[in-house]
Amino acid sequence: MHYEISGKGEDSIKNILDLDPVGAAGLMESLGEPAYRADQVMKWIWAGGVTSFEFMTNVSKALRSKLGLEYRIFHPRVSRAETSTDGTVKFLMTMDDEKVVETVLIPAGTHYTQCLSTQVGCPMGCRFCSTGKMGFERNLTCGEIAGQVVSAVRFLKDQGDPLAVSNLVIMGMGEPLLNWTEVQKALNIFRHAQALNFSRRRITLSTVGVRGRLMDFGRSNLALPAISLHAPDQSLRKSLMPGAAEYELGALMDDLKSYPLAPRERITMEYVMLKGVNDSPSQARDLVRLLSGLKCKINLLRYNPGEGAGFKCSSEESIAAFQDYLRSKDFTVMLRKSMGADIHAACGQLKARCSSES
Ligand code: SF4
Repeated sequence: MHYEISGKGEDSIKNILDLDPVGAAGLMESLGEPAYRADQVMKWIWAGGVTSFEFMTNVSKALRSKLGLEYRIFHPRVSRAETSTDGTVKFLMTMDDEKVVETVLIPAGTHYTQCLSTQVGCPMGCRFCSTGKMGFERNLTCGEIAGQVVSAVRFLKDQGDPLAVSNLVIMGMGEPLLNWTEVQKALNIFRHAQALNFSRRRITLSTVGVRGRLMDFGRSNLALPAISLHAPDQSLRKSLMPGAAEYELGALMDDLKSYPLAPRERITMEYVMLKGVNDSPSQARDLVRLLSGLKCKINLLRYNPGEGAGFKCSSEESIAAFQDYLRSKDFTVMLRKSMGADIHAACGQLKARCSSES
């Protein structure tokens, strides 16, 4: 039988966090258990954050024993937490194989927004991004992605911090659509009522755009989209973001025009302000031409120099002129302030793009 496995080594015992709600339902069916058991187990693991099957008091002892033979419960370990003077908390989270990713809590008044990683490193190689310089090591599993939330929530509770994590941004280390299978499962966990129970409008996934996968993400309807644009033309974008160049800007814009959105939704376009690189008046005009006819809003990001990046942030005057021109053409434009720069948790310093509205 499925659960009669003995003498298994630690390595062959799977992490039950790597089952999304569909996987959990399939497991219960294979064990001959009623469907509601999947919801019970999901609730203990995600909403309850339990670390042992023994704590699942409304689950039969027999089922707990079966689960314990096949599975264990492993959440990412918080191996370091640093708090910025502005209240931003940056975590180093260590996975089962000792790989480390960063995840960041950004305070936003009455709650935190958590910025999540989806890969160890990133293969996209964006030149302004510290993660891009690391290269790529591996994809994270859905349990490792969603587990970052449970570990951060547990940390806040241990610290006696009353603020909750109310919003998620998938903008940390890695390009999420290059790990779409696991990211989709993590989104299912975020959305499921018995798991983490976030509504779609409280989750944003940021991507440079990956051909094919972008529209798969759109059709999934699991989170709001943000596009890391950062250049108004293909040639500059290719030089800044070599991994993104294969999805030619014209084709990306064509796809975005048919991206499935609810009536009042818009796609967020992210544009990091790089002095003398992408911030001139003529580039503002090019950006307006590029985005005309697209249901979008624009987030301008102040650039935080990473080590040896070779870029500088645009001057305040250039940013204001750029922003004013876009607004004069009826675009909604937000200027995002950097959070956590003193602990290298800000946009471009660790992973590219965590930011907060100013
Ligand atoms: S900006 Fe995003 S896609 Fe580009 S290298 Fe950094 S993490 Fe990867």
